[in-house]
Amino acid sequence: MTKGLRVTAVNCGPLTLDKGVLMTGTSGTITIPTAAYIIEHPRHGLMLFDTGINYRVADPEDAEVYWGPGVRDAFGCSLTRDLAIDQQLDKLGYKPTDVKTVVLSHMHFDHAGGMCHFPHATFVVQKTELRYAWWPDAFSKAVYMYNDYKDTRDYRFVQLDGDIDLFDDGSVRLVTTPGHSPGHQSMILRLENRGTVCLGADSAHLQEAYRTLTCMPFDWSIEAETATYHRLRQLELAGMELVFSHDPEDFLKFPHDGDWAD
Ligand SMILES: [Zn+2]
Repeated sequence: MTKGLRVTAVNCGPLTLDKGVLMTGTSGTITIPTAAYIIEHPRHGLMLFDTGINYRVADPEDAEVYWGPGVRDAFGCSLTRDLAIDQQLDKLGYKPTDVKTVVLSHMHFDHAGGMCHFPHATFVVQKTELRYAWWPDAFSKAVYMYNDYKDTRDYRFVQLDGDIDLFDDGSVRLVTTPGHSPGHQSMILRLENRGTVCLGADSAHLQEAYRTLTCMPFDWSIEAETATYHRLRQLELAGMELVFSHDPEDFLKFPHDGDWAD
């Protein structure tokens, strides 16, 4: 087992919206975090799993330009400048250039928003997701923000086509969990003390949705989503802790804001 792998979650974009947007058949107002994960690997340096919402959205006027008219309000986004990923790194004593690897679960606006800070890093994305983000179906266009990646054509991308043991040491594995988006992937971390943790990102928006096998209105494919729920269940049965990026309780119970899981 690799010694020294550790992870902390940060909230890169609180959203307040109707629960029905997150989980089909529900209602009522809910405030959710948008987790990004900062991971230290003893041999491969600093890594991110997702990058949150773009810093420009912290300014309501600029958000009208960056995201388009009314979008910030529609998603109840209350991002402040200090919550953007570059500032979250700064709070932990890191610079954006310290980040060697950025893994994106998928490329929706609340996960790919911070790509601009890491032009020097290697991005690890499922090829299906990368292609889909550049040309999404009309029904998913609202959640892919072209401004997040329009200037990234010259970035270094590792384009995956399936699962991978990222560093070939068993410490960080990526598993495909499509459904919410076509190339969605989750990250499995083998931590010495905490045990094995699956960062499920948006495989489900909420634990409640996953536990009840309920899909989400923004899902790309309900069939794929259902299969992903069953895949995650198998991982859980194998003894893995499973957390989702937008589940408020997951965020609070998982080490965050500089408290590390190792
Ligand atoms: Zn999301």
